[in-house]
Amino acid sequence: MTFAAPGYYPVITSVSTSSAEEQTQDRDLGVPVSNVVTSNRWILIDKQGGRIDDQYDPRILDDTSRYLTEGSTGEFRPRLTPAVSLSPQHQPSYSAAAVSSVSTSDFNGRITYQRFDFASGAYSTQGVAGARVYGYCASIDDEPVGYFDLAANAQGIFSVDCNTPEAYRISVQGALTGLGVQVNGSSNNFAGVNGSIFASSLGQQVDLAVINNEAAQVFVNHLRYNVNVSTMFGRSRSPITYRVSNGAAFATNYDPGLDFIRIGPNSAVGRNGVINVVHEYGHAFHYVAIEPWATYFCSSPSNVHAYNQPYTTSCAFIEGFADFFAARVINSIDGSLAFGDGLHQGELEANPYRSLGNGLLIEASIAALFMDLADTQADIDGITADDDSVSISLFAITQIMKQCRLVSPNSALLSHSDQFINCAAGSVGERAFAPSSAIGSWAVYSGLSYDASTPLPNQSLFRALWRFNLYNL
Ligand SMILES: [Zn+2]
Repeated sequence: MTFAAPGYYPVITSVSTSSAEEQTQDRDLGVPVSNVVTSNRWILIDKQGGRIDDQYDPRILDDTSRYLTEGSTGEFRPRLTPAVSLSPQHQPSYSAAAVSSVSTSDFNGRITYQRFDFASGAYSTQGVAGARVYGYCASIDDEPVGYFDLAANAQGIFSVDCNTPEAYRISVQGALTGLGVQVNGSSNNFAGVNGSIFASSLGQQVDLAVINNEAAQVFVNHLRYNVNVSTMFGRSRSPITYRVSNGAAFATNYDPGLDFIRIGPNSAVGRNGVINVVHEYGHAFHYVAIEPWATYFCSSPSNVHAYNQPYTTSCAFIEGFADFFAARVINSIDGSLAFGDGLHQGELEANPYRSLGNGLLIEASIAALFMDLADTQADIDGITADDDSVSISLFAITQIMKQCRLVSPNSALLSHSDQFINCAAGSVGERAFAPSSAIGSWAVYSGLSYDASTPLPNQSLFRALWRFNLYNL
């Protein structure tokens, strides 16, 4: 590898054990189904000796004699020292609008990341839509002469007018922080960009590259898909934090105890990355906005679960809800473009999993039941009409989850698939309608009640829905 100039450069390497043909299939699907490992490193090219860093080294930014052309990365440039002029301090003005004609008194920048594109199999430079951009205008002796705090626009572009000729540079933090979300690295470290734009670049747009590309992809996906959830479900939750690995081994899951989402390496890119961000946010939304008691137990090592295998009634309920949530939310943004995704809305509507066995224990079957409860003939699911006549709102579904209590003999809130079915039917007698081979998975309850007004679907129509989706009856 040859670098044209001294600097600090990110390198992304992908290694795959699959054939060229399999990799082409991956690209057509937009999903990394074959074995791919990605690794990130930073390479220092310097007269005083270079090196390769496993982690981004922020001390690079402490050098006052030079700066990097892309903020956190790029070629080294010497810091210029123009004449110092003293004048009163001003508040800078700023804008996140796309700049059609770039003003020569503005510092203009773009927060960028490297996005993996499955169509070409290559990385491309993209703006980080909605990134928080804050910092200060600095004089030649590095005294602040004004502060700014704004959100980058949909192209990741921003512009700052320091309103004083004294401004020699702006010091910029480009943070992966937006409405209700913060995205960090795997050890909860800063994943954005610290950089400067100098007066020598006034009137030009300077790219500032984030440290963690996968974290930026999670941030972009969260703002694209998950911000509509409150409107869809009629409920909201507190801001969420993600921790995203761009190298080291790391699980992908939601931690209800600490209330943050982990995204592992290779789990942020492509369509899989979209599904992961929305599915895990589904868990975070479920736990905080609906049922702050519902945790799951899949009765398997590390709670590993496959969507089409039977585990437990809590695993099927919690995972089935997250699968349904992801299919519903992604469909609301992408429509039929989501039909390449695993458990997309059309797949749950068709529900080929209904004949697998005891659907009470299978997350895909429970997800399909949730979908039939919510969908209408207007939905984009591959069929022109609806295959059932039940439709209750997403809020009504969550109201059943949240408000129902079952007695066995003590009264308890629900967190299992059989409990949800009894509560939605308004009857503790549903197990009598399950096949005798599966009845052992259905607990016995002596009564149920609702903490607040909870409209239910028609009982006989709902009973037909769960018997069809869970047992193909
Ligand atoms: Zn899950």
